[in-house]
Amino acid sequence: MSKQEQSTDLRQVILTTMGVPTTDGAGVNMTRIIGTPELDHLDPFLLFDVFESDNPDDYIAGFPPHPHRGFETVTYMLAGQMRHRDNAGNEGVIRAGGVQWMTAGRGIIHSEMPEQEDGLMWGTQLWVNLPQRDKMTAPAYREFTGAEIPLERRDGNIEIRAIAGKSGAVVDRPTEPIYLDVTLPANTAFSEDVPKTHSAFVFVLDGSLWIEGLELQSRTMAILGDGTRVFAETKDLASRFLLVAGLKLDEPIARGGPFVMNTQTELKQAIDDYQSGRF
Ligand code: MN
Repeated sequence: MSKQEQSTDLRQVILTTMGVPTTDGAGVNMTRIIGTPELDHLDPFLLFDVFESDNPDDYIAGFPPHPHRGFETVTYMLAGQMRHRDNAGNEGVIRAGGVQWMTAGRGIIHSEMPEQEDGLMWGTQLWVNLPQRDKMTAPAYREFTGAEIPLERRDGNIEIRAIAGKSGAVVDRPTEPIYLDVTLPANTAFSEDVPKTHSAFVFVLDGSLWIEGLELQSRTMAILGDGTRVFAETKDLASRFLLVAGLKLDEPIARGGPFVMNTQTELKQAIDDYQSGRF
């Protein structure tokens, strides 16, 4: 393979965004990065929210009971803690470094409430679509503490927390997700294979990250173009970032608030089922 062919396999940044301020739940202030007028979705990802505040007024109201159908929600806590409770009898507190991977499937009603009255609450929620064949699967719930997330150390003091992917805590999802939390010291390079079948994005949690000559500041999301490998590096500043990728489903999306199906008929059915107490 020639040098030129190799470089075309590297994923370039095709769009950067810092998202839009949003209020959701009972009045939680956050930044919505996927699921906005600018970026409706990034197949298979339907929504990506980042909440980050040390002002309780921004988060204390939480997300009282609400339904979901047709996809998965992945909550990753970076600081603070959140209590989850659902109508399937699951309950747990996600603490800093912990992840909750919830498959809503055919329907779940849950609440997500802050388990703190002050201090920093910082985390993300990603909605991962389910393919048509799996949308009505049984709801499921998995939770991992920070210590249960596999930690890979690479040369150069690189630390990779693998939430999902081939060496990650979650390996068996239909969209073959990759979800890595990467800490990169200054002047260090990082490379990761990401199948060309996948959409991919990077979200910078801290510091400054460079991809193919472009500097990404903290709190920036970069959508990556086609390719088979992600190459990123730091210069004088260290960086911490999320690398997220998933198999493109290329199926129609019918979206109505907390329900995401393939057709309007299925969406109407979801609303009917919820309102009739069939969740
Ligand atoms: Mn929810």
